[in-house]
Amino acid sequence: MRKTGLLWEHLVADTGYSSGENYAFLESQGLTSYIPPHGTYKGGPDDFIYDKENDHYLCPEGKIIPFKKVFLDYRTKTKKKEYRSSSRQCKGCPLASQCLRKTAKEKKFSVTYYREEYERAIARVNSKQGRYMKKKRQSTVEPVFGTLKEYMGLRKINTLGIKQANKVMHMAGIAYNLKKYLKFITKTAKSGARSLGLVIFKVKTLFGNYSLILSRAHFRVS
Ligand code: SF4
Repeated sequence: MRKTGLLWEHLVADTGYSSGENYAFLESQGLTSYIPPHGTYKGGPDDFIYDKENDHYLCPEGKIIPFKKVFLDYRTKTKKKEYRSSSRQCKGCPLASQCLRKTAKEKKFSVTYYREEYERAIARVNSKQGRYMKKKRQSTVEPVFGTLKEYMGLRKINTLGIKQANKVMHMAGIAYNLKKYLKFITKTAKSGARSLGLVIFKVKTLFGNYSLILSRAHFRVS
């Protein structure tokens, strides 16, 4: 995109693309993302307050639950941070039966390593700009994929490799835009002769662009 002079600053995607690694990567690239967090994200146990400065939690009884270590979750293969109290802290606590696991003597839990990135992503999604971006995504990008899948039969791509798949998607996008554009100009044509001139002119222009795009993709048009 940079090669063609287009500046990429914002990225909009649905929950399926939510992950701490993705948020961190996009931030490192200087891109502002608007991706809602997936449903399983939790910034810590309910009623526990996070102290960012000291990287520890305060439990409902006001005890400090300190950070212990960073580890890799063997199921999800994601980086996590472990926090754990001591058995001395939790001994005799009136909330122990609800707060601790059955045989546990201390509170132990883990939180994604990318908690801060998640929190920033949530703030962006809930901002005025975030709500605007969501509407844009739902009204522009998503209906295109829906139409391509449901009405134009693009349920799968029968090519090998990302490059070929990219070409298929470009072609599908061009076909979609042409169909939509032709429908639009037919509808808005005001008078026969005038509109015919407009149609031919615009279609010719469009086909000019179309051929150019195809030749760039190393396709031959007869
Ligand atoms: S059991 Fe421990 S962590 Fe849980 S509320 Fe009581 S003191 Fe806090």
